[in-house]
Amino acid sequence: MAAAIIDGKKIADQMRAELKAEVEKLKANGIVPGLAVILVGDNPASISYVTGKHNACRDVGIYSVDNRLAANTSSEELLGLIERFNNDNKIHGILVQLPLPGLLKESQILFAITPEKDVDGIHPVNVGRMVAGEESFLPCTPHGIIQLLLHSGVKIEGSEVVIVGRSNIVGKPLANMLIQKNSLGNATVTVCHTRTKSLAQHTRRADILIAAMGRPKTITADMVKNGAVVIDVGVNRIEDKTKKAGFRLVGDVDFEAVKEKASMITPVPGGVGPMTITMLLYNTVKAAKQLAQKAQ
Ligand code: NAP
Repeated sequence: MAAAIIDGKKIADQMRAELKAEVEKLKANGIVPGLAVILVGDNPASISYVTGKHNACRDVGIYSVDNRLAANTSSEELLGLIERFNNDNKIHGILVQLPLPGLLKESQILFAITPEKDVDGIHPVNVGRMVAGEESFLPCTPHGIIQLLLHSGVKIEGSEVVIVGRSNIVGKPLANMLIQKNSLGNATVTVCHTRTKSLAQHTRRADILIAAMGRPKTITADMVKNGAVVIDVGVNRIEDKTKKAGFRLVGDVDFEAVKEKASMITPVPGGVGPMTITMLLYNTVKAAKQLAQKAQ
């Protein structure tokens, strides 16, 4: 039987409606959550992600500031802008869209964001707190994936989870969150990468298989256990002359074949993507509440 499709857009819409109600309550108390988004350069995918983030902020009532800088912006200029937002009471979250062009050093820039406004959850203070099981801003894509699973009724506790990909923004934090002794975790996790021997031997054991490689259609049906839940994080542009844009988006999973074997599967687009933005909104609202409390 074909897998049930996990509708990320629908789950994201539900969560955004809840966030909108929360933002309205905050506004009634004089708090307007604010997000500063910084985009350096003109990478088309980044422009599209940033536009999506501003639209999502507008829809739930979050004030967002759009900062677009030239690709040749210096580190000093960028660090100066971050410092300004670190000290701006109207801004509760700061997001620097990755990748950064040219010679800008990502860690130097990202670590300049005050941990209290690090709504992407990538500052070492937040990463350290997350690993230690302390309260922190959880990184948006991994948290979005876990929320997708929970909202779809998938039992994470006790499951064999296999993650393919060990990046700092997806694989590593996701593995950490899933092994925590809390309601988002308690799974048994294996992390695979390009040096993994016999990838399929690992993926075939997974109750929950999460593909985050950035390699189109690499997870094939023979790599998936019957009845597994498959989460496809990959977003790959492949040439398609029938499309106006000249390309279409596909995931890391061979969706058509794998859906015949899995019990649940996320599509690309419309799976993980909408959840990533939703968790950014969630973190911004959380930051606004925390900073307002601190100011009292
Ligand atoms: P990344 O930094 O390029 O990391 C890719 C990871 O996959 C690496 O750990 C790499 O292993 C591993 N890998 C690559 N090919 C592999 C293979 N054939 N077998 C086993 N492992 C392999 O990518 P990322 O930033 O994590 O993103 C991954 C994908 O998710 C991309 O398509 C990206 O666009 C997408 N993404 C989507 C969202 C969303 O919201 N939907 C958010 C973030 C990312 P090594 O470490 O050994 O090189």
